[in-house]
Amino acid sequence: MHTPIERNYLIDEEQKVTANYYHPLPVVLAHGKGAWVWDIMGKRYLDMMSAYSAVSLGHGHPKILQAMYEQSTRLCVPSRAYYNDRLAPFLQKLCEVSNLDMAAPLNSGVEAVETAIKAVRQWGYLVKGIEKNKAEIIVADNNFHGRTTTIVGFSSDEDSHTNFGPYAPGFISVPFGDVEAIKAAITPNTCAVMIEPIQGEAGVILPPVGYLKQVKELCQKNNVLFILDEVQSGLGRTGKMFAFEHEDAQPDGLILGKALGGGVMAVSAFVARKDVMELFSPGSHGSTFGGNPLAAAIGLQALRVIEAEGLVERSKELGTHFLEELKKIKSPAIRDIRGKGLWIGIELDPAIVKGRDLVEQLLEKGILSKETQETTIRLAPPLIITSEEIDWAVEQINSCLTLY
Ligand code: PLP
Repeated sequence: MHTPIERNYLIDEEQKVTANYYHPLPVVLAHGKGAWVWDIMGKRYLDMMSAYSAVSLGHGHPKILQAMYEQSTRLCVPSRAYYNDRLAPFLQKLCEVSNLDMAAPLNSGVEAVETAIKAVRQWGYLVKGIEKNKAEIIVADNNFHGRTTTIVGFSSDEDSHTNFGPYAPGFISVPFGDVEAIKAAITPNTCAVMIEPIQGEAGVILPPVGYLKQVKELCQKNNVLFILDEVQSGLGRTGKMFAFEHEDAQPDGLILGKALGGGVMAVSAFVARKDVMELFSPGSHGSTFGGNPLAAAIGLQALRVIEAEGLVERSKELGTHFLEELKKIKSPAIRDIRGKGLWIGIELDPAIVKGRDLVEQLLEKGILSKETQETTIRLAPPLIITSEEIDWAVEQINSCLTLY
């Protein structure tokens, strides 16, 4: 077991050699199991963050570890220069659950978003007949789609884009949740609308009921592709397999990541209708690691575990319970509590308590959480969490918030 001095030493060492674009909490994690993680001093924490939803199945899920071990002893990374015996079963399952036809297997979420951008522009030129290099994609203000230069160029978050220009043209940003704003922004050059069904990084922002369905209908009417980024909201997080199912708003293309990697590696995908995806030709896109058999075996197992363990229903039931219990907390520091499934945002009054301060207090109590936009605490535990663990978390959150 380590001492606080050793912990501080490790923090200093990490800071010396690591690019400084995160602001980690002062805890050094050493191992995890299920919904819990332990630091190097042996203190246990309930993980209410799940690595931004990448660990929806919990840490070290035995079935994921088994698939990973078995596949790693067979074949890991042969590249897509050859076929492999794991990719088709994975992508067939992915297409089946998302009700789409073909998939591009990738690694990180942002890589899948970039792939979606290429796919819809290509469709715009080859199918819709948009003049070369004039395609436009409508996105939402306060979006978060990742960190590449193209994508930060249409982010409204100052920290994300300042000093990283020049920004790529071809993106029109409109207020989130406003169908009329999308309608007004559509031109003959619009190839797609690309939004998050619920904006996670913006602070778990839910659009008005009916928004997704109306956007879908608007897209259909105007021959515009409807693309949803469900990197964070997908795979059970909101109490449905995909957040679009809450409104029966089937997209033409779906971007997935995070939980698809079962909490052990980066696995992402852009899944779409055949007429969009089949426009790619050899050489027009690629990814050295995308679709490797190890990733495919893990991705398939992750989808199977979500179904076999009823994690979508669990997210719905436990999420409802969690939200109800949190709403009972009486504190002037709370401005709003909102969420869907096991994805909840507690918006704070920053004049009373800053997000970071509350997150540090929760850390002391044994809860890992994370502020977003400085004022919102995001709670997104692994979907395998129990009702008792949620109740314990509510007690800790209550004991911190009622101090104010
Ligand atoms: N899209 C959404 C909605 C996200 O929440 C994220 C990450 O938080 C991304 C894309 C980018 O994913 P990654 O960090 O794996 O590139």
